[in-house]
Amino acid sequence: MQTIILGSGSPLPDAERAGPATLVRTEIGDLLFDCGRGVLMRAAAAGSAAGALRGLFLTHLHSDHTTDLNDVITSRWVTSFQPHPLLIFGPAGTTWLLRATEAILELDIGYRMAHHADLRWRPTAEVTETECGVVLEEASVRVTAGPTDHAPVRPTVGYRVDGGGASVVIAGDTVPCPGLDVLCAGADMLVHTVIRRDLIAPIGLPRLTDVLDYHSSVEDAAQTAARAGVGTLVLTHLVPAPQPGSEDEWVELARQHFSGTVVVARDLLALDVAPER
Ligand SMILES: [Zn+2]
Ligand SMILES: [Zn+2]
Repeated sequence: MQTIILGSGSPLPDAERAGPATLVRTEIGDLLFDCGRGVLMRAAAAGSAAGALRGLFLTHLHSDHTTDLNDVITSRWVTSFQPHPLLIFGPAGTTWLLRATEAILELDIGYRMAHHADLRWRPTAEVTETECGVVLEEASVRVTAGPTDHAPVRPTVGYRVDGGGASVVIAGDTVPCPGLDVLCAGADMLVHTVIRRDLIAPIGLPRLTDVLDYHSSVEDAAQTAARAGVGTLVLTHLVPAPQPGSEDEWVELARQHFSGTVVVARDLLALDVAPER
């Protein structure tokens, strides 16, 4: 398996970092985790496309993680030559989000179907709302959901992909919690949202300090990785976006609590997922 960070950014627009999205390349196809700003541009650069996705997995329904859902739905639809339902997995509320997204696309769907005689079906998607348990199992690939804690956003989920003898967890936005620990137990890789508490707290801007309540700091993520015996910790959804050359600071903070490999994500970073021990 391979993990490709499509977007390593956060809600704050950044010239170098697209919104949160991670691609896991497996033997059954490409699995997309969250679909933030610019996801299909980055997917194109990674050699993937909406039409090739085996499934879309949403960790939660904050807009930075879902903003390009309309692009995924439309692009898959107009590039398919037969109905090609998109499998979407996500927490409760995902069905509502899909229906609302289809509603904003209604005029566009009408325009395109009227213009293309061979496009005789509407966009199709199948939603599975989930909080816990195996959500997809095929060949050697198994995707398991587990509850995370991003309160007051509820419910939220993380996902673990097992395949080919290796495993990767996509934590999404969460504070340390038992559900995430269970998901991460013995995983080869953990892709984790992180916030620099030491940089954000001193700014003293309430809109920013509020985000500390429901995200993990670098130290929190490192402690989760250490508790679970993870092999490689990938820091993503970086707040604030690191100044070029300052990535080592993030690694050092994590290393104080975690002895495995620490990687600071950037867009299009590709990492093989393999047992390290
Ligand atoms: Zn969030
Ligand atoms: Zn987020």
